[in-house]
Amino acid sequence: MKPLSAKIAGVVESATIAISNKAKKMQREGTDVISLSIGEPDFDTPKHIKDACIDALNRGETHYAPSNGIPELLAAISEKIVMDNHVPCTPGQVIVACGAKDAIYEAMEAVLNPGDETILLTPAWVSYEPCVRIAGGKVVKHAVNQKTFQLDDSVLEKVNGRTKMILVNSPSNPSGAVFDKKSMKLVADLCEDHDIYALSDEIYEKMVYGKEHISLASLGDMAQRTITINGFSKAYAMTGWRLGYAVAPQAIINEMSKVQQHSVSQATTFAMWGGVAALRGDQRCVEQMRTEFDRRRKYLIAELNLMGYGTAPADGAFYAFVKVAGDDMDIASKWLEKGHVAATPGSAFDAPGWIRISYAASMDRLKEAMGRIRSVGN
Ligand code: PMP
Repeated sequence: MKPLSAKIAGVVESATIAISNKAKKMQREGTDVISLSIGEPDFDTPKHIKDACIDALNRGETHYAPSNGIPELLAAISEKIVMDNHVPCTPGQVIVACGAKDAIYEAMEAVLNPGDETILLTPAWVSYEPCVRIAGGKVVKHAVNQKTFQLDDSVLEKVNGRTKMILVNSPSNPSGAVFDKKSMKLVADLCEDHDIYALSDEIYEKMVYGKEHISLASLGDMAQRTITINGFSKAYAMTGWRLGYAVAPQAIINEMSKVQQHSVSQATTFAMWGGVAALRGDQRCVEQMRTEFDRRRKYLIAELNLMGYGTAPADGAFYAFVKVAGDDMDIASKWLEKGHVAATPGSAFDAPGWIRISYAASMDRLKEAMGRIRSVGN
């Protein structure tokens, strides 16, 4: 038979899969595995959001809706972006997609031509590179400073005439780092000086601890060349709703809209009503979750440091990024096989020598996991 797509064949499966498959197998066989490899809040979606979705279903909001999103949600998002992120935005500059991931993929398809280079700051979330590749683009990696996890002007060495886009993810999955004004300004200057687009994934913006989240599009003229990605999965514990969005200049939204119209059509109609309730409703639920993450974060980082592990500055998201002495894949396997704790090797994020521990698990389980890691060691 003729070979299948070479483009897709070139996309590698995530290095997280091996560990998580092994963890699942152990769980099926009855082992009490503590899973700290998950990238989703362990909280339930707040009740007022679920109720709004149930009301929508009962009202008959079960049909097709406008492809870019229901007007009520587009309005709520554009107001949020103006108020919260200080970025100019009209409802027409918003597209609601099936999760932030879908919005990222559509953005890549809309912007990249075959061979266009995209600068990927590492360590980086697992799906950016495949999204660039599927869209036909070429990834050029640049590691951020391994102590501060900030950017310096060495990134300029990666810029050339083929550079089309740079990907920024602050707060970062996996490192938990939050880019400061200097790093963000560097990205903005680089984009403006070299006519480069930016994709700024701000999905963890609500999970910052004592630092300020800066939206890239709020700097200078960056709103003209930035696609801001955000969604509901993390801030409102809505991972299974598959609801995310992009905010960008009209011309980019128009192209993304074509990708959406001919693929998923739209985000789920009644889920979008949940999104309206999330943005328009009481925001105390967001702060309550953030406070609980912060409590766990403080415990986890202190405990890891006491055990002698170095950690990246855990200023955002819900991950501790732990420096290990040795091969991260081997150590993560050992933690799993001997300690029954599942964590994600940094190699999955282009950061060998590190392990990502999610603190989106209860304090009791975190404590138990730390006890197990202590007894297993490196
Ligand atoms: N960006 C980052 C950095 C993420 O960690 C995730 C989820 N793991 C996403 C995007 C995708 O979020 P969504 O569930 O909205 O697709």
